[in-house]
Amino acid sequence: MQHFINVILPIPLEKLFTYSVSKTEFEYLQIGMRVAVPFGKSKIYTALVYEIHSTPPDVYEAKEIHKILDEHPIVNQLQLQHWRWIADYYMCTIGEVFRSALPSAFLLESETLILRNERGEVAEKDLKDDEFLVFEALQHQSMLKVHEVSAIVDRKNVLPILNRLLAKNVILLKDEIYEQYKPKLVRYVKLGVAYKSEEKLEALLESLTRAPKQSQVVLSLFQLQATDKKPIKSTTLESVSGSSKAVIKALIDKGILEEYRIQIDRVNYEGTSENIDLKALNKYQNKALDNIRQNFKNKKVTLLHGVTSSGKTEVYVKLIEECINKGKQALYLLPEIALTTQLISRLQDYFGKKVSVYHSKYSVHERVEVWNNVLTRKPKAQIVIGARSAMFLPYSKLGLIIVDEEHEGSFKQFDPAPRYHARDAAIVLSNLHQSYILLGSATPSIESYHNSKTGKYGYASIERRFGDVLMPEIELVDLKEETRKRRMKGHFSERLLDEITATLENGEQVILFQNRRGFAPIVECTTCGHSPQCPNCDVSLTYHQLKKQLRCHYCGHHIALPESCEACGSQTLDTKGFGTEQVEQELKTLYPEANVGRMDLDTTRGKYGYEKIITAFEQQELDVLVGTQMLTKGLDFRNVNLVGIMNADSLLNFPDYRAHERSFQLLTQVAGRAGRTKKRGKVIIQSYNPYHQILKQVSANDYEGMFKEQLYEREQFLYPPVNRIIKIIFKHKNYNTLNEAADWFAKSLRNVFRNGVLGPEYPPVARIRNQYLKNVIIKIPMGQSLGKTKNSIKRIENSFYAISQFRSVRVIYNVDHI
Ligand code: ADP
Ligand code: ZN
Ligand code: ZN
Repeated sequence: MQHFINVILPIPLEKLFTYSVSKTEFEYLQIGMRVAVPFGKSKIYTALVYEIHSTPPDVYEAKEIHKILDEHPIVNQLQLQHWRWIADYYMCTIGEVFRSALPSAFLLESETLILRNERGEVAEKDLKDDEFLVFEALQHQSMLKVHEVSAIVDRKNVLPILNRLLAKNVILLKDEIYEQYKPKLVRYVKLGVAYKSEEKLEALLESLTRAPKQSQVVLSLFQLQATDKKPIKSTTLESVSGSSKAVIKALIDKGILEEYRIQIDRVNYEGTSENIDLKALNKYQNKALDNIRQNFKNKKVTLLHGVTSSGKTEVYVKLIEECINKGKQALYLLPEIALTTQLISRLQDYFGKKVSVYHSKYSVHERVEVWNNVLTRKPKAQIVIGARSAMFLPYSKLGLIIVDEEHEGSFKQFDPAPRYHARDAAIVLSNLHQSYILLGSATPSIESYHNSKTGKYGYASIERRFGDVLMPEIELVDLKEETRKRRMKGHFSERLLDEITATLENGEQVILFQNRRGFAPIVECTTCGHSPQCPNCDVSLTYHQLKKQLRCHYCGHHIALPESCEACGSQTLDTKGFGTEQVEQELKTLYPEANVGRMDLDTTRGKYGYEKIITAFEQQELDVLVGTQMLTKGLDFRNVNLVGIMNADSLLNFPDYRAHERSFQLLTQVAGRAGRTKKRGKVIIQSYNPYHQILKQVSANDYEGMFKEQLYEREQFLYPPVNRIIKIIFKHKNYNTLNEAADWFAKSLRNVFRNGVLGPEYPPVARIRNQYLKNVIIKIPMGQSLGKTKNSIKRIENSFYAISQFRSVRVIYNVDHI
């Protein structure tokens, strides 16, 4: 009987691939193990075993696998079901989900490296001609790539040759290819076995009298052992004895010391092992908790709607405790930018070593460790806190998922595929595990709130801030009026300046929000009106004053600030609009005494960039923090009493059906940073349009009013949550090809969906990185089957790609969140 496996390859192929395996392999393999497999002419991929069977494929002959990479499955059945759902729902392939779900260190690179096997005894006469050519090449060169081998032997398929060479011990495949992850090993030392008894030790010290350094090392080791039973690190011994690596090495070589290694995790919680007791909840929190538990009884997704600083985190903590007491795993999902040390240490204070963090800023090694800890259900991975990718970890027994800041747009992954929404995918995950799931926010998304109103989700709320602190007082300032009355200093109104002055005089801190980084978004020549554009994208370049550069925020292209206009040569360059850099600079001129910090993409690069600024602000080393939306999320500053919003208009005018909802959420969240302790905080919102409905709703803290109005608009224009939408993005470097392709596709869609199809239309930035873009939107009424709709779209896509001129056009789907 023949044996086969179907595997998932980490590439965008619709189908699973079948490989043949031997009987032994067949018996050894399990679903969820990785195998290295040849693919195409010379590629080798890491694939995941999805099915094991005995039916040969009928259209091609199954190749043999290369190597089995795991001893145990590293992915479980629940994950595979989850991936399947994501692929189907978000219209991508399961291979794309696989690639995105696993830490990259688990995935073999497609270019295999071939090395000479130094230990192999090669009998040259036994090598066939082609084998000898490769062998010879490796005498001159330490490493070859598959395509180089291919060139040497003048043959496309070189895997048989490589296999033969492997069998004859001529070559090795570079190990890193199979396992990029290297466990971190720490060196430890102990006394050699021959010297365990006291007499032997004495004799040893005697014999070392001529080597005082060595004898000191042995004595130190002896002392260390006496005080602590724990293993002794080489480095500890080195520093305690005041010796060097060379001395220790000499002792090891003599057999007096023995060296051994222990694998340790890179990420360790260094805090005390005694946990702080959970806080007792107040009556509002308790009521919310009761409601949540009630809803959980019916396994309902539940929304916790609690105003900023109402103490939602403490409610989550109670639920997490209950979950792990039942021996189950808990997952705490947050948008990337809200994953702060503040929150992490709060959880570690309560749960100590039971908390693992999974974060995109962690190295591949750290991620593999968390993966393995979850897989083997280590106590330290009972609670995982992380950004959206944390939901792909190999949980076997999830009891609770918290999706904090559930309204956040950054839960949606836009590129690359899978273009999934983490909140929605987490709901599906909770269903697979039959676990509880709680969505939390001070400003719930219209969808989630709608779902709670219709009874699909459960609902709980906390309407008061913890400690009965008042919601901040919000004041709108009319920039038109202020400008007319000449009461502006730079971008600051008199009102805002008065409040900043008073706050600083009180020794309190200020947060200023401007949703643009850089100095000014546009540089313009006042003589001819020309403004420098990015050569790769259809946008103006943003002026960054600090670096005296013009930068593109879409592709990163940058040039030195020109002295004169590129078009007419005159030196009358001026700026339009303003970003965080300019706010920071004006502030420094207005308040030379104050310490001003800035938090945006430009100042938070690097692993700890973000943390450093937050800590400095928390420690009150900074008086004012200027920032973009980065400073809205999950930050709990004790001493901030004033929040200023420099200009609310750019948010409101964004061309997107969610712009108003987003503005409400963003402004409410930023405002929520003010006055979190005793005193009532103050918020000043500057705008040219202070009578805008959304600004009124923000200042009255009127979520309900905002919701009703937005829902009404969505009903009028058939947008979610009353309708479903799919956006199709077309991308191509040739303008005409793109237009023809998008027209063809849209026309075919109209044949099926009639007037449910909008576009094609250019997005606001219609060219990015030299690729032209066009969008088509399909509106799908709630009654219409989503599965059938997607199948129709896929059929159209197949006919589309059958047309040769469209083959190089990229078609990208965004489902729900566009
Ligand atoms: P939210 O997440 O709703 O914005 P937090 O959970 O950050 O609010 O709580 C706001 C502040 O109130 C925090 O500093 C927190 O420590 C404090 N707090 C919340 N609940 C309690 C409680 N039951 N006892 C003591 N302090 C609490
Ligand atoms: Zn000019
Ligand atoms: Zn660009």
